[in-house]
Amino acid sequence: MSYKPSGELITYCKEWEAKIGAFIELAESAEPENPPVDIPPEFPAEARALITDLPFAVKDNIAVKNFSLSCGSKLLASLRSPYSATAVVKLQALGARVIGKTNLDEFGMGSSTDNSGIQKTNNPWDYSRVPGGSSGGSAAAVAAGMVPFALGSDTGGSVRQPAAFCGVVGLKPTYGTVSRFGLVAYASSLEGIGIIADSAARTRAVFAVIRGKDPMDDTSRNFPVCAPPLYPSLNETGKSTAKNTTGIIGVLSAEAEALEPEVRRSFELTKERFTALGYKLTDVEIPALKYGVPAYYTIATAEASANLARFDGIRYGKRPDWSENPDNLIDKARDAGFGDEVKLRILLGTFVLRSGFQDRYYLRAQKIRAGIRSGFEALLGGSYGDTAQNAPQMDAILLPVFPTRAFGRGPNSLSPFSQKAADLFTCCANLAGLPAVSFPASVEDNLPVGMQLLGRAFSEPILLDMAEAYEKIHPFPHPPGFKAFWCPAL
Ligand code: GLN
Repeated sequence: MSYKPSGELITYCKEWEAKIGAFIELAESAEPENPPVDIPPEFPAEARALITDLPFAVKDNIAVKNFSLSCGSKLLASLRSPYSATAVVKLQALGARVIGKTNLDEFGMGSSTDNSGIQKTNNPWDYSRVPGGSSGGSAAAVAAGMVPFALGSDTGGSVRQPAAFCGVVGLKPTYGTVSRFGLVAYASSLEGIGIIADSAARTRAVFAVIRGKDPMDDTSRNFPVCAPPLYPSLNETGKSTAKNTTGIIGVLSAEAEALEPEVRRSFELTKERFTALGYKLTDVEIPALKYGVPAYYTIATAEASANLARFDGIRYGKRPDWSENPDNLIDKARDAGFGDEVKLRILLGTFVLRSGFQDRYYLRAQKIRAGIRSGFEALLGGSYGDTAQNAPQMDAILLPVFPTRAFGRGPNSLSPFSQKAADLFTCCANLAGLPAVSFPASVEDNLPVGMQLLGRAFSEPILLDMAEAYEKIHPFPHPPGFKAFWCPAL
């Protein structure tokens, strides 16, 4: 039986899509795919209801068989994928159906989705503003209630930041816990497939399904046996059932950071609310934070310049009608196909890697990266299963996701430079390979504000417990015109 949403849902989706343009491709029905995949043993039957028979959306840089795989680039606008990403296959095995492919900043490079070479996507809360990026289409589709959950990718914040701009949950898992097979590479050592969903419970259910070692991705791995389980989660009183937690949340002292007043207000409110929930809060400094952005852009662009070399108009990409010779063919294909931001990053990447200069940029960035990782380990206690594990001083670190709420376009936009500088709160989790969840903390002047919880490797169960405990008392908001077609929790 193919998935046929009710006429009411189709009309609802079409109306939203005309206003926000979240999808590069949107199907009206979906054929079932039932690949033979084992259901995770700990997955409780009730959690199936949060996934099975529901439609979901996939960012257009993650492969879904017979669907577009444009990566938001003119160069790949006509590409159809011949296979599906492992994360997609696992969800389909449980009965979820891909309903469409969502818009993104070209190859995941940006924070607004306006760098897409295909179309613009508007924020469902205010159509004159961006949905964030680069997974802006996925976040906008979930926020509008077109789908209950979506897959995105997070290299430096691309799941968490659009989730914060649109008022939904965004999870960037521990590096390697979700297979990257089928994710078109931007910066392989930083990125992973992440989840955008309407609730913490659904995020947990989707993560339970898509995580795990995959023979198709050598960097993928299972949770160590001593890591906390994803289920059971909260008890009847709304408290985490995870063992060996300290009940302490470290709070980034963000006094010196230039936060928009509404974001600062929301940050203060979130602290008060976690205190009221029974957590003990303690201020922490993350000295390496100020070097995170330059280190991130050095490593990300270096890897991108190598990863994007395959798009040459021969193996992949639109081939020019004529060219003088093979070199000229590649030049023309890349010149016509790539947008300005992608070209800028390829140039930056080749610059930092050029011979004789690696010491000055790339190796220095790698040292900063190691420093950031050990800084977090000193606070959070390192990964589960590490023999040399420091005693954890706290369960998680609370910090903003982005210094502003969703920004506008034209004169109300953030300059490309400021957008990059604003990645400071998100890119550190990628540099350190750690999990982080962003959740809607409050609505300030009609726009949602997201806050972020970052934890030690494999602590997703604890981070999701905290977000869920928050959500139980302060239900997540919806934009005007939202209609609920699915139940967000068990
Ligand atoms: N803003 C970051 C960038 O432009 C986010 C990228 C991402 O996570 N894909 O690189």
